[in-house]
Amino acid sequence: MGRGKAQRTCLACRQVMDQTELVRFVCAPDDQVLVDYRHRLPGRGAYACPERNCLEQVVQKRLFNRAFRKECHPVSMENLADALRKALLTRMTSLLGMARKAGLSVFGSSAVLAAFDRTNAPLLVVFAADISAGVAAKVDRKAGHHGAERLTLFDKEELGRILGRSECSVFALTDEALVEAFLLEWKRYCRILGEN
Ligand SMILES: [Zn+2]
Repeated sequence: MGRGKAQRTCLACRQVMDQTELVRFVCAPDDQVLVDYRHRLPGRGAYACPERNCLEQVVQKRLFNRAFRKECHPVSMENLADALRKALLTRMTSLLGMARKAGLSVFGSSAVLAAFDRTNAPLLVVFAADISAGVAAKVDRKAGHHGAERLTLFDKEELGRILGRSECSVFALTDEALVEAFLLEWKRYCRILGEN
């Protein structure tokens, strides 16, 4: 597929990539730079890697002005990272909501543990940050044994809200395409936070 996709250049590192791998920005008529995470806003776009280093350069060297050929409102690294974090969280939340509606998720520690004994075993386990350590260790051991990806995101209340429950300490996804889409966003999220 790679060959047919539109290629764009990162403003900072000048690497040429499929545009889907880059974050798109637009400059609104009021000269505010907006994150166009889903590549949907009209107008000229500017692109950057979803990497802390590249975003820092864009801010420091005021590269948006060059890209949009006008004096844009200055953006701070903090605001840029914040806007991206929000876009990524929205996207992750909607993927999890989709998984729930499609019946492709399992939640609660006993259900997740039991799911590993079935043929369609979970491929990804998401822990709430405030799950009890003992329960987390038990699920983590089993998931590791089955080669499932594991990560920690949100707290019990936030996970519960996404999944339409009051609280959720752990849940798992069984669908490969959904897991792949979710992990792509998750990795971007970590890169933007500057963690590796
Ligand atoms: Zn870059």
